[in-house]
Amino acid sequence: MKNLPRPPKTTARDDLETVLYIYNYKGEVRGYEPTDIEIDAILAIYDLYDQAFGMPSDALKGPGLAPALNGAIRHAYPHTYEDGKIPHVRATAFENVDLCPICGVDPPVELDHHLPKAVFEPLSLYAWNLVPLCEACNGAKLAKDAGKFLHAYFDIVPDVQFLRVEISIENGGLVTTYSVDDNAELDAPLLTKLKFQMEALSLNNRFQKDVNKYLVAHTTGLHMAAEFGGSVGVNYYLQKQAVVETHAFHRNHWRPVLLNALANHGAFCNGEFKNVLPDGQAAAVADNLATKELVEEI
Ligand SMILES: [Zn+2]
Repeated sequence: MKNLPRPPKTTARDDLETVLYIYNYKGEVRGYEPTDIEIDAILAIYDLYDQAFGMPSDALKGPGLAPALNGAIRHAYPHTYEDGKIPHVRATAFENVDLCPICGVDPPVELDHHLPKAVFEPLSLYAWNLVPLCEACNGAKLAKDAGKFLHAYFDIVPDVQFLRVEISIENGGLVTTYSVDDNAELDAPLLTKLKFQMEALSLNNRFQKDVNKYLVAHTTGLHMAAEFGGSVGVNYYLQKQAVVETHAFHRNHWRPVLLNALANHGAFCNGEFKNVLPDGQAAAVADNLATKELVEEI
């Protein structure tokens, strides 16, 4: 749930002129050769899209364009693939984007049409309508929900805390319930979008799956912190790690949010973490070391 820098769109006119042409496919005439005036009309729709910050409207469906031109723009989308005529559109969108901007769990592998190309055909090739997302987020995003999701290029997320997590420890397992804070200082439309995508993309379930795997990596660190500093040591360790991960990701990424919540969870810091993350293997390693020292002494 973070913003991405908008990729360059300086090639928009060239791109349209490059991929829109008449061609023969198995004896059938396909494609469309637009006039300069028609290209201008498509670019005007791009401008409308920018002015509306990517929110849907009928004007963005290209009602003034020839239906054959709208169809040709949509069908030209594969030209953004590696073997197409305008691969830079895809390549620049993915540049320097390590994680999906919505979930922050997986790397982006697909370009999402923020407004779906099946409905908003003129925007099929528009760089600012193409957002890199992970497979899970893109797959769960339905065309009927156009405009309800956060736009990573346009919906500017202010530097305020809005993601939170409730923690409970049940039968030695950590149960996390992530949600968007209703009282966060966000504009109402932004808050609505954040809450909608949390539900629509089942983000809580997806975070929960990674939580336990992630915490295992901190088993030794937490046990050592407790050994040397008790519950204060555990709290300090978690807070320090939260600061590190806030810098590495951002304040509303599920990892620093989890670390801060655990730091504030008295029982967890006071020893319950040992039930969640038993250091059986660490004890075995320590035993082995002790045995080895004994053998060496003998
Ligand atoms: Zn994602």
